[in-house]
Amino acid sequence: MKKVLVLGAGQLARMMALAGAPLNIDVVAYDVTSGQVVHPLTLAPVLSGLDNAIRYADVITAEFEHVPHDVLDACEASGKLKPGAAAIKAGGDRRIEKALLDQAGVANARYQLINAETDLVAASQHIGLPLVLKSSLGGYDGKGQWRLKTADQIPAVWQDIAAFLADAPAQSIVAEAFVPFQREVSLIGARNQAGDTAIYPLTENVHTDGVLSRSLALETQGDLQQQAEGMFNAVAETLGYVGVLAIEFFDVNGTLLVNEIAPRVHNSGHWTQQGADTCQFENHLRAVCDLPLGNTKAIRSTVMINILGEDTVPTDVLALPGCHIHWYGKEKRAGRKMGHINVTAASHNELVQTLDTLAQHLPSDSFPVVRLS
Ligand code: ATP
Ligand code: MG
Repeated sequence: MKKVLVLGAGQLARMMALAGAPLNIDVVAYDVTSGQVVHPLTLAPVLSGLDNAIRYADVITAEFEHVPHDVLDACEASGKLKPGAAAIKAGGDRRIEKALLDQAGVANARYQLINAETDLVAASQHIGLPLVLKSSLGGYDGKGQWRLKTADQIPAVWQDIAAFLADAPAQSIVAEAFVPFQREVSLIGARNQAGDTAIYPLTENVHTDGVLSRSLALETQGDLQQQAEGMFNAVAETLGYVGVLAIEFFDVNGTLLVNEIAPRVHNSGHWTQQGADTCQFENHLRAVCDLPLGNTKAIRSTVMINILGEDTVPTDVLALPGCHIHWYGKEKRAGRKMGHINVTAASHNELVQTLDTLAQHLPSDSFPVVRLS
């Protein structure tokens, strides 16, 4: 039995544990907040202390990128951390991430670092308006972001940012050109130690108030898939990446620009649990445990709907053809990712119909984007 330690004890570690069981891969999770090593499903403590867990594990990986650097460094020193600390740090700091994207030679929005109001003035002139301003550390689900539309807003926006920076030392702001995209897509793929890759079809993502609400596995991708895979390979090779890597893109008239990377399994890849031959969680474990990668082919038409801030959905949903609910076992909080529903069908048309029916069962304020029709 292989033993995998996951940094982070949320739903991604939980789903890795579920995917690992059939392969006899035992997953334990390090809760970065409490410092406890827990079972990813029960959250009961299983080992005492990070040092013991590092010794116990054959392989160490991460389910989120905001891991304290001393923890990452201790794991890296053991020689067991996959992907490596550099990849995880790039995912957790937009300054490192933007430099990585430039180094890999992949298209991304022009940017400048902001530490003072005068930097904001300079960025608005050099990059142009509107600007999207993002905290370099700790951002997720659109948090720690500001928009600057007109020059006369600079003093007010700076005031907000200065207040934010006062509570968050060692931070800068990344000012990025606003990208007038038609849609957002993401690519999930696995890469192993030997450099082999297994890449899923592109996923089209809809966000509501900065949070992912629906992901659709795209069935005809052609040139877009090729562009995305080229950028995936460039980033993964630059990092010597091992594991599942997710890349979010803006689609601007058929040309892709990288928005950001996630050095881990990703919410927009949850559809693979029912829609692909091998799910992203299993492929991540296969990659980091140096097992052959699994087939990433889509086997059905599939959509994933996030369950946000609700701890129940009508059980009738389970009676609908191809509907699968995945709960994360978390306590209810407004807007929190509590679970997701994967919806599969034999054809796209059938999927459209099932989603129409599903939408009638779900409250529209919590599920703003369900239908494809
Ligand atoms: P995540 O939960 O994906 O980690 P995040 O908080 O890290 O989110 P981003 O993905 O960078 O943030 O941004 C959140 C959303 O804001 C994007 O999905 C996109 O809709 C929008 N956005 C971000 N950057 C830009 C940009 N440069 N131009 C236009 N829209 C943008
Ligand atoms: Mg994002």
